[in-house]
Amino acid sequence: MDTIVSLCKRRGFIFQSSEIYGGTGSCWDYGPLGVELKNNVKRAWWRDNVQLRADMVGLDASILMHAAVWKASGHLDHFTDPMVDCKGCQRRFRADKLDEGEWVHYCPATKGNKFMMPAGEPCKHCGAHRTLCPACGKGELTDARQFNLMFKTFMGPVEDDAAVTYLRPETAQGIFVNFDNILQAMRLKLPFGIAQIGKAFRNEITPGNFTFRTREFEQMEIEYFVMPGTDEEWHQRWIDERFAWYQEYGLRKENIRLREHEKDELAHYAKRTADIEYLFPMGWSELEGIANRTDYDLKQHSQFSGKTLDYFDEETKERVVPYVIEPSAGADRSALAFLVDAYHAEEVRGEKRVVLRFHPELAPLKIAVLPLLKKNSQIVETAQKICNDLRKRWYAVYDDTASIGRLYRRQDEIGTPFCVTVDVQTVGDGKSPADGKVTIRDRDTMQQIRVTMTALEATTADLMVGKWSEVAKQFPAQATS
Ligand code: ATP
Repeated sequence: MDTIVSLCKRRGFIFQSSEIYGGTGSCWDYGPLGVELKNNVKRAWWRDNVQLRADMVGLDASILMHAAVWKASGHLDHFTDPMVDCKGCQRRFRADKLDEGEWVHYCPATKGNKFMMPAGEPCKHCGAHRTLCPACGKGELTDARQFNLMFKTFMGPVEDDAAVTYLRPETAQGIFVNFDNILQAMRLKLPFGIAQIGKAFRNEITPGNFTFRTREFEQMEIEYFVMPGTDEEWHQRWIDERFAWYQEYGLRKENIRLREHEKDELAHYAKRTADIEYLFPMGWSELEGIANRTDYDLKQHSQFSGKTLDYFDEETKERVVPYVIEPSAGADRSALAFLVDAYHAEEVRGEKRVVLRFHPELAPLKIAVLPLLKKNSQIVETAQKICNDLRKRWYAVYDDTASIGRLYRRQDEIGTPFCVTVDVQTVGDGKSPADGKVTIRDRDTMQQIRVTMTALEATTADLMVGKWSEVAKQFPAQATS
């Protein structure tokens, strides 16, 4: 993870929030390349789950909602994590995650020497397991007590109880309270889904592992409403679809798995939940949860608001409260997983190369246009013109600040799928006429082909959808670099 964190900072993906003031423990800012990556993840999700489906519509609900929403949804009473305190150093921990991190151990068998023990492992010398504070290694821990994760705030200028509200801890409730508005406005028929991407806030007891667990994050959620009785089948379909989606955008099969929730682990509203887990550097952890929320939320909101939230079935002429399947993903966790999975360090002709093998749809930059000689004004002007033309369709950049080898490595390190190089042959010189061709280099294989400038846009379009080998048959190959 340290390698990823440092690459992210160095290359402008992700910075610690408020770093010049010493940083905040759990907040991160997406820099120029990070915002592109995260936007691309969200865009791909939105297109695949909303725009390409006839049974889905979108929503952008507000973050601040009526406080009654959180009473009805059960969050005020149940959205808690068990917390313990260290009586020595006063640090706080999530009781159920105590053994998931390293722990400090003063070993009695080695005259009290201090050791950093790996997560969950006993001491090799004395055989002891962790019982004391994992951070200071000395303090006893209190009994666990429930801690509500919602951020409380006040609406309006008066800080009294009547104005109390909460930053939403999930985007889902904005969908449930708009169920009837959307049903009426869009004349939808079951089954149908409502999708939303937006910020959510949780006062996590132990945030950490970079952007994996933060107090402010973005969710990509779907509430898919179905006829009761068809819910189990739809649940399985969504689990399969969402599992396939991550692989379509590049997560390697061996790094992703499904995990069923045990009965005692299920949220208060859930009939069944399956998590999609990714093998993050700290171990297998949740990427997305897919829950069968039954008719719990619509019934609760109906009861608390006094409004009917149901669906009239034209066939049976009966009113039913739909069941709901919820695929709930994190935009930040997905972006992190795509980053981790894309990272490769390899040796090329005795030199180290770091390359982010992003799917072209997710790559922050799509093309870099590089002049081979920055002192040749014809080459520079041609390269800049090519870049400006390509920019109309893809995020392209021009760079002439280093030698070509270094420029390639820089683009590899941020995952740019293709580099286009303009050289003397492209523009010609006193000895030979211009051939009007440029070199395109593939990030992953480092293969190169030479393409006429007039065919560049169409060729690039083919390359973006993975047609390198077909395209390469039409154009002569060049030496790799
Ligand atoms: P965890 O068990 O890791 O706390 P959760 O089961 O509470 O997660 P859900 O309520 O299912 O998480 O939220 C759905 C998705 O939102 C998660 O799969 C994750 O991708 C994202 N998410 C939840 N909490 C956080 C957080 N603190 N930071 C970043 N993303 C989060």
